[in-house]
Amino acid sequence: MKVYKQGEKGKAICETCKQVVATTLAYRDVPFSDSPGEVKDILVAVCDTCDSVVAIPPQSTPAIKKARETATTLKSLIWRLTGSTPKRRENSASAF
Ligand SMILES: [Zn+2]
Repeated sequence: MKVYKQGEKGKAICETCKQVVATTLAYRDVPFSDSPGEVKDILVAVCDTCDSVVAIPPQSTPAIKKARETATTLKSLIWRLTGSTPKRRENSASAF
């Protein structure tokens, strides 16, 4: 697996710019797209035009997984502390 480094240039499709853009790898705090919380300081490809995160290299995936697990644990702790249990869904497919 290729290991990417900060400052490396590349190209990717930017959802904000709606086109192929030049990207630069940089360390950023990235919020989860589907749940609260964020991953701190991971290497991602940033759009040179609008500065949004357009891609995440495979090497950053373990960090995301770990942060996601931590966020989930924290959330369940908060629920426990406040005493408000999230409603059980009929469809028990987890959002995570
Ligand atoms: Zn862009």
